[in-house]
Amino acid sequence: MIKIIADLQLHSKYSRAVSQQMEIPKIWEWARIKGINLIATGDWTHPIWMREIKANLEEMGNGLLKLKKESIPFNLQDSGVNTDDGPFFLLATEVSSIYSQGGKLRRIHNLIWSPSLKNSDKIIEGLKSRGANLHSDGRPIVGLTSMEIAEIVFSVDSHNLLIPAHAWTPWFSLYGSQSGFDSIDECFGSFAKNIYAIETGLSSDPAMNWRIKDLDNRTLLSFSDAHSGPKLGREATVFELSKLSYENIRSVIAGPYTSFQKGEDRDIDNKIIYTIEFHPEEGKYHYTGHRNCNIKQSPSETKAKGTICPVCGKKLTVGVMQRVEELAGRSEEELRIVKKKLPGTVLEGIYAESFPQKPPYVMFVPLLEILSESMNVSPASQSVQSEYKKLTDQLGSEFSILLEKPLDEIKAISGEKTAEAIGKVRSGDIFVDPGYDGVFGVVKIWFDKKKDEKVPIEEKEQLSFF
Ligand SMILES: [Zn+2]
Ligand SMILES: [Zn+2]
Repeated sequence: MIKIIADLQLHSKYSRAVSQQMEIPKIWEWARIKGINLIATGDWTHPIWMREIKANLEEMGNGLLKLKKESIPFNLQDSGVNTDDGPFFLLATEVSSIYSQGGKLRRIHNLIWSPSLKNSDKIIEGLKSRGANLHSDGRPIVGLTSMEIAEIVFSVDSHNLLIPAHAWTPWFSLYGSQSGFDSIDECFGSFAKNIYAIETGLSSDPAMNWRIKDLDNRTLLSFSDAHSGPKLGREATVFELSKLSYENIRSVIAGPYTSFQKGEDRDIDNKIIYTIEFHPEEGKYHYTGHRNCNIKQSPSETKAKGTICPVCGKKLTVGVMQRVEELAGRSEEELRIVKKKLPGTVLEGIYAESFPQKPPYVMFVPLLEILSESMNVSPASQSVQSEYKKLTDQLGSEFSILLEKPLDEIKAISGEKTAEAIGKVRSGDIFVDPGYDGVFGVVKIWFDKKKDEKVPIEEKEQLSFF
């Protein structure tokens, strides 16, 4: 069996607010540094990006692609790297649908995955024939409903996948409080049975999703949605596969829950072993609030005060934590959350004892952020960058450092403070000031208990079990 760390959502430089460095050779290079084995191409509906995909990548015959030798970044050309070792690419893209259904405006982001350039080209033709303008952005905005997208994607090939993206963000997602739906059935109609998975997004973690009965028979996926190289892998999904192929990934996602057509070759040993998560408080929409009015509320405060902004009188942006409360079919206690050693890592995983079939997860903070906290300068500063480079050059990929390396090895290269910081992140001994209404949460590894923990009791409990 092989272990595959997959990050299957990101954007190219042709999407809004994305780094100009998000080009294929650079994405490949960053994936190597991070320790990602399988990465999304992103944005293949965009005509120029698709040209770059075809110029830089070649199909391997297993539904995935590899970097062409001539596309190896200049600085690595003499290093003996072999593109046959990966990282490999999966044709993954994202479409933003804006439409009205049931008398309400809906804004839904969906991921489309395909096992071949041929399939992708056909889906592009299908979208264009329905009037979609794919030129304007790497993540195009289309007037098609989620059901119409599903019809296009599955009429090309039932092996394509359609996965609701960052399913809880208030403004642009399946369950979004502002313009989403209450269930997958409502959003996808007769195609709901083909929706095998959701991407949980940065502001929610698996435990929150385990409370949603609509998701009981679906797979939870975590990816970075990165807009720049350093953000790759901030969330990821770890697979264990007999061999790497699109079909093996798809069969794991379609899951033990879904009946397969007769004769389909399927290896039951393939599985997701765990997901790697951001602390959900770090996400931009964890709490409810208004950024311009400086109002931020926890679910218990929202319960007491309601969702009307005391400053401007308009409705607050209802955060993910609150929205999960609204749709939850079971309590957190019913999950019986436990932490125990996660095989193959030095970390403890978070498991639901009541649902042993659900893969566990680990939470951590990206290494650049850890270094930034321990060196007390911004993650973009030169000193953090060179410390990051030193560690990843000498110890291995970021994932191997965070998941596997003993602290004394880290200490030997980067000193006491870095080792202590990584130790604290591993054991969850950190404080996260929750994000809200588009403002990212802030991680503090060394925190002043009195000053920083001005959060309501209920949330303290929520935070403490991590
Ligand atoms: Zn999106
Ligand atoms: Zn307001």
